[in-house]
Amino acid sequence: MTGVWTIEKPAKDLSSEIPSNYAKVVLDFDGGMRAIFDDMRNFGRFQVFSSEQELLEQVPSVKTLGINGLQEHFPQEQFEQLLSLPINQTKPLGEILISSRLVAEIGNVYKSEILFLAKLDPNTFANELSSSEKKCLGQSVSIILRRAFEQNGVTVANYQTAVGTAQSQGLHYVYGKEGKPCPTCKSAIERIVQKQRSTYYCPQCQVLK
Ligand SMILES: [Zn+2]
Repeated sequence: MTGVWTIEKPAKDLSSEIPSNYAKVVLDFDGGMRAIFDDMRNFGRFQVFSSEQELLEQVPSVKTLGINGLQEHFPQEQFEQLLSLPINQTKPLGEILISSRLVAEIGNVYKSEILFLAKLDPNTFANELSSSEKKCLGQSVSIILRRAFEQNGVTVANYQTAVGTAQSQGLHYVYGKEGKPCPTCKSAIERIVQKQRSTYYCPQCQVLK
């Protein structure tokens, strides 16, 4: 992601001018807080809805979003139900993990990290997973997403949340590390392309069935 969220404390005079030419969203809260989103590249979108129903009517794609993988208690049962849908069963894990229909928050970076932690080859099909592998995959989704959340996310440019710069990219196991040693077995990490996106994995630790 790119862009910057900042929060100004109540002590600041809200009548002061907006501090950036790129501020696209300015939210003034009761109590004096102000939140500002700077979006120099104009990739962001911000909409306000008066109800959940209005949101679902105007943005129907929201209905197809998968589970919230950041929940403190990961919804394993729901995760496995979605995994067993026909649309997911006969596709490689490297493709379905970033579809957002399984877990809403997984992007291309986290996909590789999750599969490495779960020791699953990205070409494995969902219908080839054993019950313990499904459990392990769900746990890996939860661990990677929560760790990234605690590190304010990941950025390839300049994305900042309101509480700091994204920095989880410094903790990657395999993402972006083609040819470098696997942190577990020291084999060279490989890169493949799935649906026009790069997937990084260790051919020794993540063996195809
Ligand atoms: Zn390895």
